[in-house]
Amino acid sequence: MKRTILSIVALAILLLLSCATTGPGGKKSLVFISTDQELSLGEQFDKQLRTENKILADSVWQNYFNEVGESIVKVCDRKDIQYHFTVIESEQINAFATPGGYVYIYTGLLDRINNEAELAAVTAHEISHVVARHSVKRLQSAVGIGLLEQIAFGGNASATRDVVNLGVGVALQGYSRANEFEADEYGIIYMAAAGYNPQGAIELFQMLASLGDGGQENIFERLSASHPDTQARIDRANQLISSKYQEIAKRPRNEARISKLKQRLPKPLPEKKP
Ligand SMILES: [Zn+2]
Repeated sequence: MKRTILSIVALAILLLLSCATTGPGGKKSLVFISTDQELSLGEQFDKQLRTENKILADSVWQNYFNEVGESIVKVCDRKDIQYHFTVIESEQINAFATPGGYVYIYTGLLDRINNEAELAAVTAHEISHVVARHSVKRLQSAVGIGLLEQIAFGGNASATRDVVNLGVGVALQGYSRANEFEADEYGIIYMAAAGYNPQGAIELFQMLASLGDGGQENIFERLSASHPDTQARIDRANQLISSKYQEIAKRPRNEARISKLKQRLPKPLPEKKP
């Protein structure tokens, strides 16, 4: 009897260890969806997103977003997966990441950023959500591990569509205040490590805050909504930059390439789908 209990305990510990994953800064946390399942989920989500959105048909922009993304991936804490960076043609002023390293940005946001440091700030923030597996954690508690596994194995088309919508919803507005602060913090750490001026993060927050919440649409992950409030994010970012990145904060923000590329964006931007 004692032996059985011991082996059950040993099995439980083994199971927990196999689920422990490493997040930003090497922090451990429990995720019950394996990396393979997460990658498969990301793939299913991506397929669905591509049928419901217009992907920007401009390889110059797609390659540029990919280049900035990959330079940040190189210095991040999760390099065991392949990342994918995709520009969606839409007037929405937003960006989001889904499980498995899929990062999306809307042309509406690209149209409003002023330099490469700001683009790097958005991208590094989204990569940090992937590193910390925020969306997987939210999804596994929202829909349950069983259903997520079914979707990962491609067995349930209608559930996939529902969960994709939920997943994008989670990625756009479902993160907790703590998740957002974590993504902000590591976003700055990663962008600075990749050589970008971290002031880009502050400029980005200020620009988005100045737009107001406009009926709670068109806001970078609901940045201006109540959680967490923009000023708190700006204060935290300022604190981190002045304590660690004073030198790198003097670097150029690289405006020329973005301002040239912005002329390539389709105008007027297409209406957002209801
Ligand atoms: Zn976020």
